[in-house]
Amino acid sequence: MKNISFIFLILLSSSLSFAQITKPEVTEVWEPEPRVVAPGNVVGAAPSDAIILFDGKDLSNFVTWDDKPATWIVSDGIVTVVKDAGFLISKEHFNDIQLHLEFRTPSVVEGEGQGRGNSGVFFQGKYEVQILDSYKNRTYSNGQCAAIYKQYPPLVNASKGPGQWQTYDIIFNAPIFNKDGMRVKPGYLNVIHNGVLVQNHALIHGTTEYIGMPKNEAHGAGPIWIQDHGNPMSFKNIWVRKL
Ligand code: MG
Repeated sequence: MKNISFIFLILLSSSLSFAQITKPEVTEVWEPEPRVVAPGNVVGAAPSDAIILFDGKDLSNFVTWDDKPATWIVSDGIVTVVKDAGFLISKEHFNDIQLHLEFRTPSVVEGEGQGRGNSGVFFQGKYEVQILDSYKNRTYSNGQCAAIYKQYPPLVNASKGPGQWQTYDIIFNAPIFNKDGMRVKPGYLNVIHNGVLVQNHALIHGTTEYIGMPKNEAHGAGPIWIQDHGNPMSFKNIWVRKL
């Protein structure tokens, strides 16, 4: 973790470095690799004050990029990504929330690295907690499952294998901007993956960019996005609580 902070410090201290970043590999961090721990069993039933985003029946709480009805497949209480159907975008916008979701990577393993079981949950449409099949599937540490994408690797790798249901319980505190558009308070993320704490009050540096450094343009409440990265990822039991 110290190494990553150090890299950020170096990059922040040189405006030249910002201009020169044009390749995604530049911001990949591979070492150290989070160690593997075996998660216990977790039950994630929605509490009474939760806002249910997906109850297993329909996608009425989501739309597509262009505000059309979402077209991922809903069957047997589960929703599955349809390649190129686009992200799920929650109709409701949120600030600070607790989020629960369950995801399953494909049981038939295809691809490797970032191409294997990729999705992601974005807070306010800007800050991604990575979803990936990270069971014996090496990629850059700050891009594996439960990473805050390109900012923090998970503290440990609590991933279950392909085809198994996994849980995320995430606490998101939104950044605060003043009237001049200055970020006066950073956002924070806590992530529990399969019952294991993997992000501990991580300070969000800004938007989670595939290429280049995080950005901090002022914004207010925003939607939850669930990523279509082309893999047939499944989800169920998605709920949030406003904090
Ligand atoms: Mg992703």
